[in-house]
Amino acid sequence: MGSPLSAVLANLFMEFLETGPFANIVPEHVTWLRYVDDILLVTPRRFNLHRLQTALNEVEPTIQFSLKEEIHNSLPFLDTNIFKYGNQLEFKVYRKPTNKKYLIHFYSHHDIRTKIGVVIGIFLRAFRICSAKYLEEECRFIKETFLTLKFPEFLLDNCRQQTAKIWESSRQQDNTTRRLVLPTSDGATNLTHLLRTTNLEVVCQTSRTIKDTTKTKIHNNQTPGTKAVIYHIPCSGCDKVYIGETSRDLNTRIREHRYDVRHDVTTNACVTHRNKENHLMDWKNVELLIREPDKIRRKCLETAIIQGTNTIEQNRGMFNISPHIISLIPMASKILNI
Ligand SMILES: [Zn+2]
Repeated sequence: MGSPLSAVLANLFMEFLETGPFANIVPEHVTWLRYVDDILLVTPRRFNLHRLQTALNEVEPTIQFSLKEEIHNSLPFLDTNIFKYGNQLEFKVYRKPTNKKYLIHFYSHHDIRTKIGVVIGIFLRAFRICSAKYLEEECRFIKETFLTLKFPEFLLDNCRQQTAKIWESSRQQDNTTRRLVLPTSDGATNLTHLLRTTNLEVVCQTSRTIKDTTKTKIHNNQTPGTKAVIYHIPCSGCDKVYIGETSRDLNTRIREHRYDVRHDVTTNACVTHRNKENHLMDWKNVELLIREPDKIRRKCLETAIIQGTNTIEQNRGMFNISPHIISLIPMASKILNI
């Protein structure tokens, strides 16, 4: 069930079975309620469940049902415990006996908003599932659980109040508004406009995911001009050079270096080299080595070039790269002639 497609495919397959072979096996007076691969059956008292189970399991060898019957008028289904009182049903949050109450510790290194979000999420589940009869007991259980995780009591009471408000407003909204969730924000404005007279609200899922942030971007066109570059400044007094990179314009960056030298900013390697060796940098022979719009790639290349070059006493770059690896980086080895 790990893939995003799994639930969709499971639903499709189960619907295929339900409208086809299962329709002939499950009697009409049996209530069949399914959530993905969990089914709740309501049957007459003397119904032979085991015979039905055997018949269902014969249909498709890969779909094998296990059976759980109610015990003492109660039956867990998904995260709900259902209780039967005469003709009435009552509901309570169901926890597996193996539940270990490992949620989030108050002193864990998470943002306070995350911690509050977890508490509200769990309270909200209680509000959603529990009958009035069981709500208080469940809220008490939640509070006790988070107290053992060192959450302050006032915060938990506050979260519960907030949850009650959220629950109330969501119930009021549910009667009037329906949401249409789009996987992209493209065209959403047009759709919102078209649906303005209906009670449908258009909601867009964010298009920026962690994957977008971390995957390597492919740049079809290089940044024109002298922006996003790796450069070198030779020393006029020895054969050492300074290697640097900037996302901004090279001329701006060089002006900053010259400003640092004039004002003796000792965090600048050009300044420390001058102070130590009494050498001046050769500003006329500054050279643009590589243009690379991707910041991470640029930093890596800068590091590789620094570590393969006789530089002045400057920062060695982001990380250590062995000379063998440097020779495998085409752009760096071209610059370094290796
Ligand atoms: Zn020098």
